[in-house]
Amino acid sequence: MPQTSIFQERLTAVRHKLPEWEVDGLLIASPSNRRWLSGFSGSNGQLLVTANKALIATDFRYYIQATHEAPHFTLFRHQRTVEDTRNFLAEAGVPRVGVEAKHTTLEQMDELMQVENITWVGLAKTVEPMRQVKTAAEVQSIQKAAAITDAIMAQVPQIARVGMMEKAVAWELEKALRQAGAEALAFDILVASGPNSALPHHHPGSRRLQAGDALIVDMGAQVDGYKSDMTRSFYLGEKASVPYFELYQLVMRAQTAVFQQARPGMSLKAVDALARDVFARAGHAEHFGHGLGHGLGLDIHEDPFLSPRAADEDTIEVGTMVTIEPGCYLPDWGGIRLEETALMTEDGLVPLTHCPKEPNIV
Ligand code: ZN
Ligand code: ZN
Repeated sequence: MPQTSIFQERLTAVRHKLPEWEVDGLLIASPSNRRWLSGFSGSNGQLLVTANKALIATDFRYYIQATHEAPHFTLFRHQRTVEDTRNFLAEAGVPRVGVEAKHTTLEQMDELMQVENITWVGLAKTVEPMRQVKTAAEVQSIQKAAAITDAIMAQVPQIARVGMMEKAVAWELEKALRQAGAEALAFDILVASGPNSALPHHHPGSRRLQAGDALIVDMGAQVDGYKSDMTRSFYLGEKASVPYFELYQLVMRAQTAVFQQARPGMSLKAVDALARDVFARAGHAEHFGHGLGHGLGLDIHEDPFLSPRAADEDTIEVGTMVTIEPGCYLPDWGGIRLEETALMTEDGLVPLTHCPKEPNIV
């Protein structure tokens, strides 16, 4: 578990932001933001932070856990009633409170509106930008998750066999990840074969693997709440077909260009363009339809997003964890994606996933 002092630092950072957000308090209910700020990993709870108070409300199931995991927060015993919500908020004694616009439902907002004497201010982002740059402990957890994913990805050529259903391959990989030490999957494993591999977010189904198929496996492990993410592409056969092999090389070149040229301080857009330009020069611009990558940590998709739609002024900084996942998808034919989890350092991107890139499965 990370040292408690990091949570003190984060609390201080949030308090410094309150004037900028034009609020006297902040209510945090989203699980990842709550865990990042307090250390509390339970499924139910709310944080309320003001200039001089740090409160955590949770229900009976978590009283002891919250006391242990979030020692910098004062426990408020919540029985999940509107009356308790009112008392909890009265405890803070502040008139303007920020609420997470992205993570608050209409139902929750309705309950908050019943509390007298508080003006609610919807904030598009609260601690998300602070979560981008990882601490050494966070990097270590992601490294462990990446190593597990690496080891199991290397077994795909032994696990995936012609005649197996996609979902059977996914289940074998899931068991292997758990046996190798993953506390959970980072997300549902993606196994896409044949024409399905042209669908970047295909859900593994009953299609059976056939000789000559393109195959995409996208998976990640979770350790200490932190996620890893990795994709490899394979060809089912002794020797990949010429078009498959050429496309595979193209995706490799796009990924290599990013690892060679991305530097801290570059705009997110410019990093994305490093790969996009490689596809465009090869006449495949329209076959790379998604962003180059995404931040990851407590969430599998978090800030920053490497995309042509990123704001011009948003940059990638030292300590940011991102995926680099160029892909090329030809409708009805198949697709190829290669994805690493990588850390931005002073010298550029360093991959945390290393499993060899070999297009053939015998
Ligand atoms: Zn992925
Ligand atoms: Zn990803």
